[in-house]
Amino acid sequence: MVVDSAVSARAIYEEFFEVACRSLGFSPTAIELLSLSSREIRAELPLVRDDGSLAVFNAYRVQHHNARGPYKGGLRYSPEVTLDEVRGLAALMTLKAALVEIPFGGAKGGIDCDPTLLSERELEQLTRKFVQKFHRLIGPNLDIPAPDMGTNAQVMAWIHDEYSKIYGYSPAVVTGKPVSVGGSVGREEATGRGVAKVVATVADRRGESLEGRTVAIQGFGNVGTHAAAALSELGMRIVAVSDREGGVHRAGGIPIEELVAIAGHGGPVAALEGAAVSNADLLTLDVDLLVPAAIGGVITAENADRVRARMVAEAANGPVTARADLILAERGVAVIPDILANAGGVIVSYFEWVQNLQQVAWSLAEVDGQLTTRLVTATDAVLEDAEGAGVSWRMAAYRIAAARVHAAFFISGF
Ligand code: NAD
Repeated sequence: MVVDSAVSARAIYEEFFEVACRSLGFSPTAIELLSLSSREIRAELPLVRDDGSLAVFNAYRVQHHNARGPYKGGLRYSPEVTLDEVRGLAALMTLKAALVEIPFGGAKGGIDCDPTLLSERELEQLTRKFVQKFHRLIGPNLDIPAPDMGTNAQVMAWIHDEYSKIYGYSPAVVTGKPVSVGGSVGREEATGRGVAKVVATVADRRGESLEGRTVAIQGFGNVGTHAAAALSELGMRIVAVSDREGGVHRAGGIPIEELVAIAGHGGPVAALEGAAVSNADLLTLDVDLLVPAAIGGVITAENADRVRARMVAEAANGPVTARADLILAERGVAVIPDILANAGGVIVSYFEWVQNLQQVAWSLAEVDGQLTTRLVTATDAVLEDAEGAGVSWRMAAYRIAAARVHAAFFISGF
């Protein structure tokens, strides 16, 4: 049996990144320099709970690389947050921004809390404490956080407000804000819609129709719900969805109206009609497309040989481990890598930042049109490099991104 110890985002990144860099002929010194984080910050955030007790949470921000622009990346609230995980996710952001050619570096942050167990007041206080501890290290030209697992537009609005108390009105310090405080139309749904745009481009280039093709989606939060809506607009049939508590499978398909209604009420998915399916079993359903849209490290050497989907679109960051990736490749399961599949979010975050800096507001048609252009361009580049170099789509995406980061880093003079 293949042993799979590399389930963290950091380990997944390192395995692929090194191979990609070696295939590009980078020196060992260059590879090491590009792998290091620029800065890793940890802070303890004290919070007086609603019952008067004191709780202390670990908060992290890792700034990986800024050769191509200010650090950029999500802020995650989850009990699974660790420094090592955040480190790997920050490095992925550097590559993602480079792959889709937006002028950002990579960063990631997180607080090791379970947001579902915190009241609205507690969440707000914790978020404001985060800004109080980290404000010198973030900023419109320095490091720009965004929503990720467990955070949303409301959390971004609190960050904007707390930061602006110190520095004056600064909407460009954070993206994914509500539209009423400088957010961009189309940002909320950008990551999920982006997944569908990339899937549609891949299908188009392969001359395949998506009409009636089946989809299983793990994770029904921001990314999962919008991916479901956009994939179903393409004519695909969503047959299974899940959230943290488990999932539902309906072979005939779950109408999008039912899915939207569940999402509108904040779940749970288990309230939908259909056969109960665990998160583990959802990954091995016989479907055309599997969309992991929750946590990382869910497809491993343990279960990769049981994945029956014809294609996997990594809406989550790092859902397929390096070992699992090899097994899926051997079995002919195509994987659209995270740094391409879920890049729609950071692309529209970039549009939001541009609008904030210029104090203008784009229309939804403009946002959506430019999002499509960037994702189609990046997808075509990945397919072309994969074909030309005889490598997987993930390796092609890493090669393209690593070459751009390398060029920017060394021309600036190390
Ligand atoms: P979210 O908090 O809105 O939703 C997460 C979903 O996953 C929820 O349905 C939750 O119940 C479920 N979940 C949590 N833990 C789980 C577990 N252990 N097993 C199964 N399901 C679980 O988060 P999101 O913003 O939709 O992010 C989901 C993934 O997409 C993350 O990996 C994130 O890094 C990635 N991503 C998000 C964005 C974005 O713009 N929000 C952009 C790029 C990538």
